[in-house]
Amino acid sequence: MRVLLVEDDESIAESLIAGLERERFVVTWVTTGGGALAEAHEGFDLVLLDLGLPDLDGLDVCRALRQASDVPIIVLTARDTETDRVVGLELGADDYLGKPFGFRELLARIRAVLRRRGPSEHREHPDRLECGPIAVDVRTHEARVEGTAVDLTPKEFDLLRYLIEDPGAIRTRQGILEEVWDRNWFGPTKTLDVHIASLRRKLGDPTLIETVRGVGFRARPSEPLP
Ligand code: CA
Repeated sequence: MRVLLVEDDESIAESLIAGLERERFVVTWVTTGGGALAEAHEGFDLVLLDLGLPDLDGLDVCRALRQASDVPIIVLTARDTETDRVVGLELGADDYLGKPFGFRELLARIRAVLRRRGPSEHREHPDRLECGPIAVDVRTHEARVEGTAVDLTPKEFDLLRYLIEDPGAIRTRQGILEEVWDRNWFGPTKTLDVHIASLRRKLGDPTLIETVRGVGFRARPSEPLP
């Protein structure tokens, strides 16, 4: 995945680049609107666009990028007013994130945008993940089991989402701790077991999340159709 990052604040850019590269994105960084437009035809998979740029208005850059290609654009900005938000989306941005934001939040938006754009069965319900009787809405943070809402803490929600993003895939204990808690988790992994137990209890069916002994956990994939 090739990402064009348009951001004039060096410290923000550096931390974003570190995070994105950790997620195996290949990042090209420019600090100006002019720089962004010069890269517009380079075939990126995604553009992260700051609106407050030193040379051009970010909204003009957004419009020009959209005219040049249909690359997904996520606008990142401190200008978090309703007007900018609406204008940005009208100019063709796919999503909008007000600063300050957490990296995990950005990553969730990136995944949602790429999923929405990608050739996948998720296209109609881009923010909805399903696994057997479980459905979660990543935008509203709602989780349901067989249509009944389940009240989860934010960590439980993140944990559930990570497990069902890829139904049946084994998620290692370390992978879960890095993804849901922090990339450098040195604390006791008992935290994970406590959250798994609580999540199983709230889901009402402990077998929906399987323990893979000595490795980690996985969400039980849907039963094959008869
Ligand atoms: Ca800026």
